[in-house]
Amino acid sequence: MPIRRLPALLVNQIAAGEVVERPASVIKELIENAIDAEANHIEVAIDRGGIERIQVVDDGCGIPTDELELALAAHATSKITAPDDLDGVSTMGFRGEALASITSVARVEIRSRTPGAECASVIEGEGDRRDGPRPVAGPLGTTVSVHQLFGHVPARRKFLKSEVAEARRISRIVQRLAMSHPDVSFSLQSNGRTTLDLPRRDTSRRRILDVMGPELDEQMLDLDVEREGIRLWGLVGRPEVARPTSQHQQFYLNGRPITDRSLSHALREAYRGLIEPARYPTAIIFIQMDPSRVDVNVHPAKTEVRFRDDRLLHSTIRRGIVECLQAADLTPSLALPSGEPSTTRPALFGSGGGRMPSSSSPPRSSASPATPSGPRGFAIEEVRRISEDVSRIPAAAPIPRPLPMGTALQVHKTFVVTEDADGLVIIDQHALHERVMFERLLERASSGPLPSQRLLVPETIDAVETHFDGLERLKPLLERLGLDATPSGPRSIAIHAVPALLLERKVSVPPFVSDLLERAADLNVADEEEALREVLDMMACKAAIKAGDHLTDQELADLLEMREAVERSSNCPHGRPTSLRLSMEHLERQFGRR
Ligand code: ADP
Ligand code: MG
Repeated sequence: MPIRRLPALLVNQIAAGEVVERPASVIKELIENAIDAEANHIEVAIDRGGIERIQVVDDGCGIPTDELELALAAHATSKITAPDDLDGVSTMGFRGEALASITSVARVEIRSRTPGAECASVIEGEGDRRDGPRPVAGPLGTTVSVHQLFGHVPARRKFLKSEVAEARRISRIVQRLAMSHPDVSFSLQSNGRTTLDLPRRDTSRRRILDVMGPELDEQMLDLDVEREGIRLWGLVGRPEVARPTSQHQQFYLNGRPITDRSLSHALREAYRGLIEPARYPTAIIFIQMDPSRVDVNVHPAKTEVRFRDDRLLHSTIRRGIVECLQAADLTPSLALPSGEPSTTRPALFGSGGGRMPSSSSPPRSSASPATPSGPRGFAIEEVRRISEDVSRIPAAAPIPRPLPMGTALQVHKTFVVTEDADGLVIIDQHALHERVMFERLLERASSGPLPSQRLLVPETIDAVETHFDGLERLKPLLERLGLDATPSGPRSIAIHAVPALLLERKVSVPPFVSDLLERAADLNVADEEEALREVLDMMACKAAIKAGDHLTDQELADLLEMREAVERSSNCPHGRPTSLRLSMEHLERQFGRR
């Protein structure tokens, strides 16, 4: 076939493939236009999941009659004029593509009136055809109606999900946009029924709780940090409200919802050890930074962006959230069955109407005990040695946490019961020790190689390709850990030196190293910090005291003291709680003293 220029309609249909994938993407574009037009109220209505009809009504600045036709044209926009403008886009739209794309695959009607105009004007478009503009009665602002999406493009229509599923996506996108624009009211009607009604609010917190459910109020911590020109704010959930999917974590860049793997990763890292690996933190995070530091023009729907300095952003997010979590007391409180007051176990995102769809599995009880197993043997001197070693490192800012008081009792060589200023505390000895070791090791490893001990006789492990690969990948990391291993034959690796801690804690070294090298393939070694944390996780777990280990009074006291000294000791590195608290208030109620 000879090369031909494509007709404009076909070009737009191709572009539509990227911009308008489904009804929810149409709605996203229309709401963004209304926000750019500085609307105060945005009303969305859909019929049959938006496939039949979508309508977005705003009270924004309107479109002048003589520009209505241009609004439907491709590459026509009022938002940028010169290439330089791309460097600092502050509007939600700028590609001048959405309305043209939508019109190429649906019937579109725009009714609009600007403040100066005597009446509204209406234009209709479908494919190549245009009708209007002509005068019509109408309020200030703009109403865009989209009928029969993909009506003439059966191939695309085929990819739509059920009406219910499409309506759910629409609801989600309206909620997402609403969360970042609390000063705009939003409503959503589906098949004539109002499913979402969000009044104007003066804070993001109010709006977010309107969307996510006010019962989350106590579970969401306020985040607000600024570093090197990056401002971060929003709400981050306590570990208990982590969810089985990532749906309740959202990022916004300069008001625009975005998805970004590196940001999600930073969030995960911040919660590392506080929630189980299979769960996702609940967090709504707004990032404000100079638009010239990001390229928003890398994705047709503008949902992905490229940061000029993504490492800085990553560390700002991780540290900002870590600090926020550290400032809060995360020890979960324990409720007895008939207990009053009821502990906050929120019915997350109630399934009704405008709320986010509830997820299938209920929040996991934070009270489920760990079931540790493994070899016995614990000598607190060994832990002391690490502590002393670590104590020379300047500690992070002290965390406000009640000091240990009174005595402690070991229960069935598994749990430790003690008191603090708030009440009774029950501790899982393995989980706490693991957490304490992890934090200490991490702190220690951040300041230089871990103390290492050379073996008189090298230990060897049987190695296959994966082990050799792992050894190569992990080289710098192993050095930091004080682990010296080298290939010693076509099928063996010799271990010459190991982290002293492992010997002290009587961990069998060859299986540990073999495991570690095998897992190296899964480790993101490009991110040295992350890889380090993974490996320290493994070490802490192996080296920690186990359930069944008897502790002397002194050992108990030391363990409790370490709890105070170590950050985030409320959860073990795998996210299980290390301790639970029964508050005095709770106890007093239970015994009828209140
Ligand atoms: P973009 O938003 O990228 O500029 P669109 O195709 O979405 O491209 O819209 C084209 C133009 O139509 C916009 O630049 C704007 O001038 C105008 N427009 C669209 N929707 C509205 C609205 N709801 N209110 C006012 N103007 C609008
Ligand atoms: Mg637009």
